[in-house]
Amino acid sequence: MNDVGRKSPIREANRLTILLRTVLGEDRFPVDVAALAREVSRNHEDPITDIKGVDIDGFEGMLRARRRQPGWQILYNVQSRYRGRERFTLGHEFGHYLLHRRPLTAAHYRDGELPDGFDFECLPLQLNQWKIAERDREEEADTFASYLLMPIDDYRQQVSGLEMSRPLLDHVIDRYDVSLMAAARKWIEFTDTRAAMVVACDGFALWGRASTAAYKSGVFIRSGMEIPDKSIAGMGSTGAHARAEHPVALPPGVWTFSRGTEAVREITFFSDRLGFSISLLQFDTDTPLEGLDDDSGEMDTYDKFITNGQS
Ligand SMILES: [Zn+2]
Repeated sequence: MNDVGRKSPIREANRLTILLRTVLGEDRFPVDVAALAREVSRNHEDPITDIKGVDIDGFEGMLRARRRQPGWQILYNVQSRYRGRERFTLGHEFGHYLLHRRPLTAAHYRDGELPDGFDFECLPLQLNQWKIAERDREEEADTFASYLLMPIDDYRQQVSGLEMSRPLLDHVIDRYDVSLMAAARKWIEFTDTRAAMVVACDGFALWGRASTAAYKSGVFIRSGMEIPDKSIAGMGSTGAHARAEHPVALPPGVWTFSRGTEAVREITFFSDRLGFSISLLQFDTDTPLEGLDDDSGEMDTYDKFITNGQS
């Protein structure tokens, strides 16, 4: 197998989580990624020496090999369209450092300057047509950042048994200092409840994901699916309940998925600045689906981020 020696992003993040808990105790959030990256990399021949925000078009973040001596820079874009994602980007680049970099030694600089080909230049996943190998690395770096900033056990404790609401999500965002998108996506990934997340723009889903429990019950979100008019998302940022603190109960017939429709509690966050909405749909447990089509035995795989038309 060519995966031998490949580092697990979750294991690497958990290792650092344990380190932080040991050193800082329970009061360790939000994680200071820059300090951690410097401290951890200090013990290597090629440490991370510079971490800086830059205003340059064309990338979200970059792990850049130093040209004159072994070492690395992390650059992250501070242009307004990346606002709120800087810490996640830092974590992502730190992930490349730990998981994917080719360690630099003095030998690489024999000719006075490092040859090309060591850098990681990162674009937002949904804007880019990654090759498969690159895409795997990008996803691993994202996973690392997600687990480093929002350790799963801690996140579970914050939300255990509670319905996801605006105040609860705000609490999570504050605690970890992450974007709403990152916090919501993480919750969908681990919640045991039946729930789904839909990112929409101009009346259509850009991206969506169902929690494992919801997916197993036949809920999945297709990129490009139409957002129902009577949903909170469909009514838009000036509609009723656009600023609701808690999810609004909607009857069956509003949200319909391939395998049927059912009652749902919806809360939607509108970002006029970014031009999209993020909806969290929460379903009751064990509610039978109406209009279930027994012939459609085949489950779709999760839709991934769409890869075109969004630049
Ligand atoms: Zn990357």
